[in-house]
Amino acid sequence: MNIVMLGAGPVGLVTGLGFAKLGHRVACVDIDASKIARLDVGECTVYETDLSELLHEMQEAGRIMFTTDLSLVIGGAEVVMIAVGTPSRAEGDVDLSQIFSAADDIGRRLDHEAVVVVKSTVPIGTNRRVLERVHERMVEQGRGETAPLITIASLPEFLSQGRAVQDFFHPERIVIGVEDEVTRALIDRMHEGIQAPRLSMSLESAELAKYASNALLATKVSFINEIANIADRTGADVRDVAKAVGLDRRIGPHFLEAGIGYGGSCFPKDVVGLHQLAGTSGYDFKLLSAVIEVNNRQREQFFRRVEMGLGNLRGRRIAVWGLAFKGGTDDVRESIAIDLIQRVFARGAEVIVYDPQAMENARRILPEAIRFAPTAVDAVSGADALLVLTDWPEFRDISFDAVRQGMVEPRIFDGRNLLSDLHLDQQGFFYEGVGLGTPR
Ligand code: NAD
Repeated sequence: MNIVMLGAGPVGLVTGLGFAKLGHRVACVDIDASKIARLDVGECTVYETDLSELLHEMQEAGRIMFTTDLSLVIGGAEVVMIAVGTPSRAEGDVDLSQIFSAADDIGRRLDHEAVVVVKSTVPIGTNRRVLERVHERMVEQGRGETAPLITIASLPEFLSQGRAVQDFFHPERIVIGVEDEVTRALIDRMHEGIQAPRLSMSLESAELAKYASNALLATKVSFINEIANIADRTGADVRDVAKAVGLDRRIGPHFLEAGIGYGGSCFPKDVVGLHQLAGTSGYDFKLLSAVIEVNNRQREQFFRRVEMGLGNLRGRRIAVWGLAFKGGTDDVRESIAIDLIQRVFARGAEVIVYDPQAMENARRILPEAIRFAPTAVDAVSGADALLVLTDWPEFRDISFDAVRQGMVEPRIFDGRNLLSDLHLDQQGFFYEGVGLGTPR
């Protein structure tokens, strides 16, 4: 099958390469010429396990190509997918400008029968609007009467960054919003080779399913963070509580890790987006208001914990491990680590940071005076405290003897409870996590 993918961000790139690996011929189109130029020479623009290898394999097989020019590749495409960004606007509602501009680009150039597939996360009603826009542009091009049949499918993406390639080939479900059997059959064919329940439903249900899924995961995170805050006040240990709760099959163990809250390019915008969407449809989604409030408060509390532990931050040297919004990715969008670094820096502290993958992306958004260390151990040299802000597993394997020797004061504030079972208090550290009952 010939597939065109609009947008070569994490989602467009991973799914584009995934469909190529399934045997399709995929053309990835992006308006960002520098991104396309890098991809074209085999340079992976996103850090994801196995993604670089997949890129090289598909380039060698001649099943993937990259271009900025949609008109070069749209001829013969049976499927045109939209995987462009849907960020939040300042008001909190979803900015659909990239989606509609992609729909316009398609409508101006498409002159044969095809299915337009929306992979991006979009509010209810957007898929229908995309199809209308494609038709409107076709009419403008004088192809009103003779317009070929264009149908639409909503194919929301559920991949988790850090394990995106694995999630593409082994998804827990494939949600297909469609209106007709022929389109549904084509989407089925496109996924041949992937074993997963396929749920077909209306466009509106597929659109809402994606928001509901992210909102519920975010709710779990805020819920366990509330429990952690009670644990801190009562002497309970949130890790034991989460284990006990999570073994209940009705609840499940995932997303019950207490910490500094959820970040990233999806949860914050999707939770706020759903909240707004509910509001504009006349419904006050009270639960989500609390989820958002708890998430914002959680980082404040961590920041206060650091301030209380160290006193005045002015002139203190603070080391930070972790810049990405979570381990396994180089994505720093809406990363709570970045927010906390900016707060600590604004209080007059000297900040030196390390992340295994996200340094390049973070450098673009952090103040110039923030220093970047070549290794985790280098980062702590001469530090008054270490903040652990991203759950990179390799932080657990660092020599804590070397860390202690390098620090002026062996203090660790662990915003992810990543090191909480390493008994660092017994190795001479003052160690504080989130919801561990008592400082240890
Ligand atoms: P992104 O913003 O990182 O990438 C989007 C890309 O689209 C950019 O490279 C941009 O230059 C390009 N683009 C914009 N307009 C274009 C146009 N008209 N033609 C061609 N390219 C265009 O986005 P992302 O993180 O890959 O996410 C894409 C969508 O998938 C979003 O709706 C997001 O909410 C959703 N989603 C993301 C994830 C994730 O883990 N990142 C997971 C599931 C769903």
